[in-house]
Amino acid sequence: MLQQTRASRVALAYEPFLRAFPDVARLAAADAQDVLRAWQGLGYYRRARSLHAAARAVMAAGGRFPSDAKGLARLPGVGRYTAVAIAAQAFGLPGIAVDANVRRVGARILGQDGHGTPLRTRDADIERGLGALLLAPCGGEPERRAAVPEALIELGALVCTPRTPACDRCPLAPACAAAASSDPTRFGRAKARAKARAESARALVVLDGGAVALVRRPDHGRWGGLFGFPSPDGETGADGRALAPIDHVLTHRRLRVTPVLVGADQAPADAAWVSLADLVAGVGPVPVSVLDRKVARSVLAALERDPEGGTA
Ligand code: SF4
Repeated sequence: MLQQTRASRVALAYEPFLRAFPDVARLAAADAQDVLRAWQGLGYYRRARSLHAAARAVMAAGGRFPSDAKGLARLPGVGRYTAVAIAAQAFGLPGIAVDANVRRVGARILGQDGHGTPLRTRDADIERGLGALLLAPCGGEPERRAAVPEALIELGALVCTPRTPACDRCPLAPACAAAASSDPTRFGRAKARAKARAESARALVVLDGGAVALVRRPDHGRWGGLFGFPSPDGETGADGRALAPIDHVLTHRRLRVTPVLVGADQAPADAAWVSLADLVAGVGPVPVSVLDRKVARSVLAALERDPEGGTA
């Protein structure tokens, strides 16, 4: 849950999720829509689908959870970083999980400037170099080994920050090539992120009494498997009452969505009708994205201001 999602948002979803699916068997047996609904508000719904698929894979293998990085990496949605991190933290197995923070710390300690070497090779060098420096002294003590990946994450977040590494209070300074140079920030620079692209779309809002028509999005793609307002291609076509556009930021996209209230004749044949008030309150019967909740809120507010001005 914490990958790419703020801890404050995860804090709201974590315990209800565990109450709904208290163990691997119950998660595996759950309906996919129920899993997505419990994931609402966390974004990146592919992780929920992978988690569900991983639970099913564990149950298909007799209910035994893999206990080393290799076995863990075979589960759906578990990459090398997650596999090494789980193996270290849950089973005390030696390993260095390389994420962006650890990559920066490692590159600085090893004095890699990172130019011209493929990322995979650099990460493998960092795993080896940090392993020799930090894991070897732990000997066979699982608890000490388990603390290393977490300590590295903390060090990257609090001490060895991207722009102002605090080498004077860093416990690794004696072993660090970057600290010995005149400019530690020269090492471990992340590539500049591509600018988020702007995209605009419309959300068609078909109201019938207090209910709105939602459609299920295809499994693959953005918000796969979730329900949402129909969003036709292009910016023209359906007539109706357009509301103020809503801005919503995703990792690589800046979306501007215009809700358009349209007549009941434009309801999709396979629509799921959901109470607008339930949708706003986040208690609807189907999983929806944060953006569709925002659309629902703006529709409800517009109707409260102007109850007569519904559809065209
Ligand atoms: S000594 Fe400085 S550059 Fe090296 S790991 Fe510590 S904070 Fe980072």
